[in-house]
Amino acid sequence: MKGSEAGCSYPTSFYKEGIKKMALREIRVQGDPVLNKVSKPVKELDQRTKELIDDMFETMYHYEGCGLAAPQVGVLRQVVVIDVDDGNQYVLINPEIVEQSGESLDYEGCLSVPDMRGKVKRAEKVTVKAYNKDFEQVAIVADGLLSRCIQHELDHLRGHLYTEFVEGELCRLEDLPEEE
Ligand SMILES: [Zn+2]
Repeated sequence: MKGSEAGCSYPTSFYKEGIKKMALREIRVQGDPVLNKVSKPVKELDQRTKELIDDMFETMYHYEGCGLAAPQVGVLRQVVVIDVDDGNQYVLINPEIVEQSGESLDYEGCLSVPDMRGKVKRAEKVTVKAYNKDFEQVAIVADGLLSRCIQHELDHLRGHLYTEFVEGELCRLEDLPEEE
């Protein structure tokens, strides 16, 4: 499993002493083969997965993203964290889109494709089933940015980057036409 979990090796003393400590993980960027692999479902919410979730939030906030999928930190597990500033911190484990409707074309970016933006067509509204941070099954109905973010992150779990779906030019952030 080349490179699959290289980002989450703690010294063994970390586990022995049971110290709770969040850590930044290295973000994998386009070209890293781990980003093109399919993630496996999480079977139980063990300590390692809880630490992964904490670290993913810390890493996402540090790099000012609104979503992060586990493969982006080199872990091929179906775990996604999202914060689109709606007052919630979403943890989606083994997520699956069960309903979608409408269509929306808008810019996206990705921490694994630094400083680039491109327009991607997504469903306007989705219903996603997943396990939450307590490993309880939940269903989330989302539209707008949350819906777009969910679809983007779920693509990561199947080994896809948004750059595969861009309509028109993929452009550098500084070359974006002014909006608003
Ligand atoms: Zn991304």
